Amino acid sequence: MIGVTVLGSTGSIGISTLDVLARHPDRFQVIALTANKDVDGLFDQCKRFMPQFAVMADEASATRLSQRLRDAGIKIEVLSGVEGLEYVAALDSVVYVMAAIVGAAGLLPALAAARSGKKILLANKEALVVAGALFMREASLGGAEILPIDSEHNAVFQCMPANFNQGLDQVGVSQILLTASGGPFRQLTLDQLKGVTPDQACAHPNWDMGRKISVDSATMMNKGLEVIEACWLFDTEPDRVKVVLHPQSVIHSMVAYTDGSVLAQLGNPDMRTPIAHALAWPERITSGVKPLNLFEVARLDFEEPDFTRFACLRLAYEAIKTGGTAPAILNAANEVAVASFLEGGIAFTEISEVIDSVLDSLSSGQADELDQLLAVDLESRRLAEQIVQNRV
Ligand code: NAD
Ligand code: MG
Repeated sequence: MIGVTVLGSTGSIGISTLDVLARHPDRFQVIALTANKDVDGLFDQCKRFMPQFAVMADEASATRLSQRLRDAGIKIEVLSGVEGLEYVAALDSVVYVMAAIVGAAGLLPALAAARSGKKILLANKEALVVAGALFMREASLGGAEILPIDSEHNAVFQCMPANFNQGLDQVGVSQILLTASGGPFRQLTLDQLKGVTPDQACAHPNWDMGRKISVDSATMMNKGLEVIEACWLFDTEPDRVKVVLHPQSVIHSMVAYTDGSVLAQLGNPDMRTPIAHALAWPERITSGVKPLNLFEVARLDFEEPDFTRFACLRLAYEAIKTGGTAPAILNAANEVAVASFLEGGIAFTEISEVIDSVLDSLSSGQADELDQLLAVDLESRRLAEQIVQNRV
């Protein structure tokens, strides 16, 4: 039995992960489940999966979960806070850690998994955007293995030769082609984008996801974060990573080779495919995903992305080219701006404006040490909050 910790188990990726794990009860054992404040959600998952540990980042929620479990006569150890998350990410009995907390909040637990040499199923792209160099270094020192869960990076991983770690030039890879659906607003004009609501932004045409990443998909910041994620995972420069709009979301990404070959990974848009792939790699297991019917798909379209209407994508490319702490600043400002948009504060088009102002005001510095990165994250959040306050 392979021990698994699911960080962020009550979220969209967490729920899909448990769905796949439940299909293979003789292969996997759930050791720990974690959430932030969703006591009801974690209580139900505890009853069903009977993990040894349940962690709630929020202290008050942890107390309520303990009480609920005690009342129900269920014996599960409840932990709280970042320390609790780090503890269950590093347990000896755990082989796989699904890192599916949303935002920079996922960084410290994912780092704990990296330092203790786990197989990390990495969905939490913000961890790499904030601390790519540090995270890759700690994973390598700790003997951890990173398996990408983001559908694009999982697709790229599947299309790469096994020895891609030797360097992309060495193995004949000329480009990484990240596909993007373009989100719900692909065809709207800048003027139309000004008036869109949070619910419209969260109604993604092809994927059912958490609210933060849904807004990121609508602004195309999600693709920008993914360009940065690809640079770290596949040790390459941003110029080698191209974004291709592909509204059907059937091709999940591609790898182009120097001989003219382009390899693609296709499938229905359902995160259980990359999750099952990473859980079983190098083997294959069932995921519950419907087989792809190419006759139903019928056609595949491709377009160039528009960096004017989708300024977030441009800002992300600029941040990774600047390097240092610029991606951490970008990410923090984005988290604050998106939260404000979701709460009815700033307008959709102001998200990129807030990020642009924060990036303009703070200069990029060294990004090697955790303390520096956490300080930059905090400072960028404070500045972004101020700019947002002045606008609402
Ligand atoms: P979600 O909002 O649905 O779930 C987030 C999970 O993290 C929940 O369990 C929540 O309780 C927990 N959480 C939130 N804040 C926390 C905090 N401060 N401390 C500890 N736990 C906290 O998000 P999601 O859509 O499942 O996305 C999770 C991650 O996976 C994100 O980084 C996202 O970019 C990435 N991702 C998601 C998808 C998708 O299809 N949903 C696809 C690719 C990548
Ligand atoms: Mg993705």
